[in-house]
Amino acid sequence: TGMQGGAMAEEAADELTLLAERHLVQPWPMSGSIGAEARGRIEGGEGIYVTDAAGRRLIDGPAGMWCVNAGHRRRELAEVMAAQAMELSYNSPWYTTNAPAALLSGRLAGHAPDGLDHVFYTTGGSSAVETALRFMQFANNVKGRGEKKLIVSRQGAYHGSTYLSASLNGRPRDQDWMDGAGEQVVKLTCPNPFRRPEGVAAVAFCDYLVAEFKDVIETVGAERIGAFVAEPVMASGGVIVPPDGYLRRIRELCRQNDILFIADEVVTAFGRLGHVFASQEVFGLDPDMITFAKGVTSGYFPLGGVMIAGRLLEELRRSNHSEAMFAHGLTYSSHPVGCAVALKNLDLLEDGLLEHARSISGHFQSSLKALEELPLVGEVRGMGLMACVECVADRVSNNPLTLDLEVGKRIDNHCQELGLLVRPLINMCVMSPPLTISTSQIDDMAAILRRGIELTMDDLVREGLW
Ligand code: PMP
Repeated sequence: TGMQGGAMAEEAADELTLLAERHLVQPWPMSGSIGAEARGRIEGGEGIYVTDAAGRRLIDGPAGMWCVNAGHRRRELAEVMAAQAMELSYNSPWYTTNAPAALLSGRLAGHAPDGLDHVFYTTGGSSAVETALRFMQFANNVKGRGEKKLIVSRQGAYHGSTYLSASLNGRPRDQDWMDGAGEQVVKLTCPNPFRRPEGVAAVAFCDYLVAEFKDVIETVGAERIGAFVAEPVMASGGVIVPPDGYLRRIRELCRQNDILFIADEVVTAFGRLGHVFASQEVFGLDPDMITFAKGVTSGYFPLGGVMIAGRLLEELRRSNHSEAMFAHGLTYSSHPVGCAVALKNLDLLEDGLLEHARSISGHFQSSLKALEELPLVGEVRGMGLMACVECVADRVSNNPLTLDLEVGKRIDNHCQELGLLVRPLINMCVMSPPLTISTSQIDDMAAILRRGIELTMDDLVREGLW
């Protein structure tokens, strides 16, 4: 009967693959396979591991999409969601509130930089960024300066998949076939020290970036720029850690020109860099708004939000347009189940997980940094528990193009055979495991990644590509 059970499970699995292929439209599809794509199915998870449909146990290198911070299958998180659903599964935020939302607001305000004492809850990161931007537009309309609404973003950024948030994106392929509100956005140079503009020395790079922003303010006019939006460490653009002082200097320019500084901490918050919010504690930054999502619930429930400086709300309350409505809200704003799981997740972070993440990040970074020995690896960079291994065709020119599109995927394929999920990004592999990862699990992860890269180098040589 054991064998029969196995065979039945296999048949059911095939059925599921077929159903998904026939009826499921996967996110980020290529048009050549849109609506007809078989993706590997994940069946279960525990701690830093997931299990795929073939029964293989894999280290979840990217923690889902940078979100499973407390790890998979945490009973505490599952139980609190069930308990909250039994108590109150939903209430309309249109005219009521609930206890978990109120409690979470207080807790988050306590962790956020001084003055960021209010929060607006959303369903995820895109809706958080969208909310921050629409709030900026609304506030400037109410203040009678409707011209001040341009948004400054950077090449390499990722801020979401709703219309306005997606218009800020600047990674390869983000805009190629998509419409967007490009006329509302100005994009600055990516603050990537590894790929600086030609002729800009490493020591001069920060000055260059700040001067560029200054130029934009002068050319476009401060009276037309409403907000600057930035991930403190760019995540899906390839874990770009900006030069020292960059964020603070840009922030100062924003302050001088009455431009709101929006820190998009969808990835960097909730322990990824060792703190609930990274802005102040890691970068000495005091943004006007912080967007967050993902790790706030460790991915157990879709929730996001915007921390907003109370001062900005006070200005609106005092304006001479008290009748103006911020016509923006979501059915699931302040969702009681999401807020309840976020509260429990925050308990886990405060009760040791943040400390663990901080104490283990040095080992994480140095284990991966050692991969720079491999000739295919151009740079390993990162911060906290996020890192990126960037492959190059040759290390003299650091040219990423010859091997474009294939290398990350090739490494991922080998690593999956060896027990590690990688997140391939063109010629890069991104690592951001659950924060619960131990020293020996980091060693396993790094060893598999090394082997995966070595096997990829062998393939490339054999195929005459390298
Ligand atoms: N901002 C950043 C920095 C992100 O990394 C992401 C998601 N990868 C988003 C916003 C969008 O979040 P979501 O997918 O939850 O809408």
